[in-house]
Amino acid sequence: MSESFTEPPSERALRIKAIESVLLEKKILAPGAVDEIVDLFENQLGPRNGAKIVARAWTDAAYKERLLANGTEAILEMGFAGLQGEYMVVLENTPAIHHVVVCTLCSCYPWPVLGLPPNWYKTAPYRSRVVIEPRAVLSEFGLDVPDDVEVRVYDSNNELRYLVLPQRPVGTEGWSEEALAEIVTRDSMIGTAVCKVPNADEGVV
Ligand code: FE
Repeated sequence: MSESFTEPPSERALRIKAIESVLLEKKILAPGAVDEIVDLFENQLGPRNGAKIVARAWTDAAYKERLLANGTEAILEMGFAGLQGEYMVVLENTPAIHHVVVCTLCSCYPWPVLGLPPNWYKTAPYRSRVVIEPRAVLSEFGLDVPDDVEVRVYDSNNELRYLVLPQRPVGTEGWSEEALAEIVTRDSMIGTAVCKVPNADEGVV
């Protein structure tokens, strides 16, 4: 039998809890409101929404055309819209062009399709370096873009957000939209990764 230990909450967690308690006490915050907001961002929003968009575009040529022509409208067609996604542009990765997205000023990010930004997206090194030396930064993400592929960096802003449409991996012919959505990662829709078919050898040491 193993002993179980309970880690004390982190300082940040304690501080958040304290703020929440004060807001509840002063009736500024309704009970359950925080849970609802967390659920919204963790479960209802998030990269799974973007993955559905990508999988649809991979399997439905007419939808892809609409998506590239008017991202906002085509994303709304799938039921996703709202705060921080009011105006969306979709950038298609091709064998010749690889797109990567940044917000050099702050951390603008398409919430309705990708949820909240990862921490690295908000850091000064990513924001400054990806525009200066995108290939080196992508390489640090484990993505080596071949020399014959052009890398284009797009800078998001308060009014305009981007979603990268990654390339559909070879070996996924005949896959269902649901199965395709499973292999679409958050980073592939920012442009710091590409979509891959899970390696059949994975797990074999
Ligand atoms: Fe920003």
